[in-house]
Amino acid sequence: MSAAPCIALIAHDQKKDDMAAFARQHQAALSRFRIVATGTTGGRVQDACPELQVTRLKSGPLGGDQQIGAMIATGDVDMLIFFIDPLSALPHDVDVKALTRLATVYDIPMALNRATAEKFLDFQ
Ligand code: PGA
Repeated sequence: MSAAPCIALIAHDQKKDDMAAFARQHQAALSRFRIVATGTTGGRVQDACPELQVTRLKSGPLGGDQQIGAMIATGDVDMLIFFIDPLSALPHDVDVKALTRLATVYDIPMALNRATAEKFLDFQ
């Protein structure tokens, strides 16, 4: 039996409520994935959905985004959902760019908003 596909979850601070609500609403679909997440996002998802198994990496600004980037490069992440905050100047804006680049290089689906993420889950 092959391992479940891996989904990576990241949300900027202003989008963490949205990510928690998204995870609650789509808990059944998410349970079919191995879930990795940046530290704070992962904590919020885990609190919202205690039944899901969430592997929490470092917090994004402390390297969690880069950890997910490395996992994309090694083929260990199959899909990325990154709820970005489009209305704030972000000190770690470069992380979004780096992940967009890697998701493009390795041709994995990357959703930057809830509407796209929901389409991805529909197709799973
Ligand atoms: P966080 O990281 O989930 O640890 O807050 C996300 C981010 O890159 O802002």
